[in-house]
Amino acid sequence: MTTATPSGPAAEEVAFLIIGAGFSGLGAAIKLTQAGHRDLVILERAEDVGGTWRDNTYPGCRCDVQSNLYSYSFDLKPDWSETFPAQPELWAYLQQVASKNGLRQYLRFGHEVTDARWDAGAQRWQVSTTQGAFAARYLIAGVGFLVEPSLPDIAGIESFQGTVMHSARWDHSWRAAGRRVAIVGTGASAIQIAPSIQPEVEQLTVFQRTAPFVVPHTNHPVKPAVKAMYRIAPATQRASRMLVYWMRELLALGFIKNPKILKRAETAWRKHMEGAITDPLMRAQLTPTYNLGCKRVLPSNDYYPAIARPNVSLVTEKIIQIRPHAVVTADGAEHPVDTLILATGFHVTDSPTFGKIRGKDGRPLADALGTTYLGTVVPGFPNYFQLTGANTGLGHSSMLFMIESQLTYILDGIGKAQAAGGQFEVRPEVAAAYNAELQRKLPKTVWGSGCSSWYLDSEGRNLTLWPGFTFDFRRRTREFRGADFLLGQRR
Ligand SMILES: Cc1cc2nc3c(=O)[nH]c(=O)nc-3n(C[C@H](O)[C@H](O)[C@H](O)COP(=O)(O)OP(=O)(O)OC[C@H]3O[C@@H](n4cnc5c(N)ncnc54)[C@H](O)[C@@H]3O)c2cc1C
Repeated sequence: MTTATPSGPAAEEVAFLIIGAGFSGLGAAIKLTQAGHRDLVILERAEDVGGTWRDNTYPGCRCDVQSNLYSYSFDLKPDWSETFPAQPELWAYLQQVASKNGLRQYLRFGHEVTDARWDAGAQRWQVSTTQGAFAARYLIAGVGFLVEPSLPDIAGIESFQGTVMHSARWDHSWRAAGRRVAIVGTGASAIQIAPSIQPEVEQLTVFQRTAPFVVPHTNHPVKPAVKAMYRIAPATQRASRMLVYWMRELLALGFIKNPKILKRAETAWRKHMEGAITDPLMRAQLTPTYNLGCKRVLPSNDYYPAIARPNVSLVTEKIIQIRPHAVVTADGAEHPVDTLILATGFHVTDSPTFGKIRGKDGRPLADALGTTYLGTVVPGFPNYFQLTGANTGLGHSSMLFMIESQLTYILDGIGKAQAAGGQFEVRPEVAAAYNAELQRKLPKTVWGSGCSSWYLDSEGRNLTLWPGFTFDFRRRTREFRGADFLLGQRR
């Protein structure tokens, strides 16, 4: 069905409009269809499903949570090839999930949402995209939080004459052989890229601002007998999922409650690093100056050995300029390179999409992130759900656990809102009390122990991480409590 909008072309009417076809958006569509809702559309700006696992195709890209936990609990895959699969297998999993659950009919690729605003008169979300308009009763944003590449603002970068690429926009026509490459950054992507290209390149220069804690990786192939067991007796894979889950919650104990627990992890890190690096100067450069866990802990068995190779230099001086064929650092050194790999992360709380979604007073979501309740609903944003929203990120476990908790909450909310007349909006005072609680807790966690990280926004506020156990988040999202909301016909 279509309706004319006051100012633009006819909008397609839909009950549920989902933005994004990653784990969040696809998960929402599966849960909605399972609940009997068929009046839905999934808008995706790219040409395929997959989100993170479609966009990050750099060499070595792999998840750092076991796939038995980093996959939907309602769509287990018994035949993962490795315990921590690489990007192609995760992307293929999401493509299969979309097809198997009949989601293809709801997907609209090449539809980038350029504007979404609540129309109080029509009680609809009016959504503009690069390919037409939609009017929706409920808007569910699964737009991701590590999705918009952040490019460094370095003087002269536009004058660079070689190849420049962000880790999430890999140029597959580029060949590593014989290249002189600079990797800017030493976060999760950089430590996967460096060892993958080091054997081929002529020279690799890794520009490090802060040293990460790189710990042993336990990835290994899944034996055929284990795959067979998972297929024949799915309960065994569920048991493995449980085991992984609880081992990871133990880590949370260290991050949230008692950093002393992390001392053992620090000892393991030191052994790992010193086993690969013998040069005392390099050891010092690779030693973090903050508490383990404050920045994301990175698993890799080949990063430190790669850094120690003769064709690799580790530079800890600040980059001050890019010239057409070189990177210049604060000590005046010029490092000749023909390729710049920007492993510089993402716009997290400042993602441009948050400026395009506006609530009932025209206020952009970007200004309201800090008022999000349970990472999912926002005061002033009626009939709006956000997946992987503010303070749902994790430093220790699988985002799938958080996403599935949110999906339960959303489905319960839709049922309750529909029963009450169709509309909901979280009470501002409920959201305010919740956020005050989070911001009280966060400084006492390891993430508040004084390092700078992408978990913090420009004002030093942590709007990214959940400061507790994930089972606590699940408990709190089990029920969409009517008392927390203004429910009814019209707001
Ligand atoms: C390299 C990398 C490795 C990671 N590894 C792990 C890991 O090991 N464990 C873990 O728990 N998490 C990991 N993460 C985090 C990961 O992003 C989440 O686990 C999960 O994939 C998030 O799913 P999502 O659907 O919410 O977001 P995404 O996967 O980011 O999907 C968002 C989708 O929304 C679309 N979109 C965005 N804006 C618009 C718009 N305006 N209009 C239309 N479409 C739009 C995007 O194109 C994208 O397809 C990793 C992230 C990265 C980048």
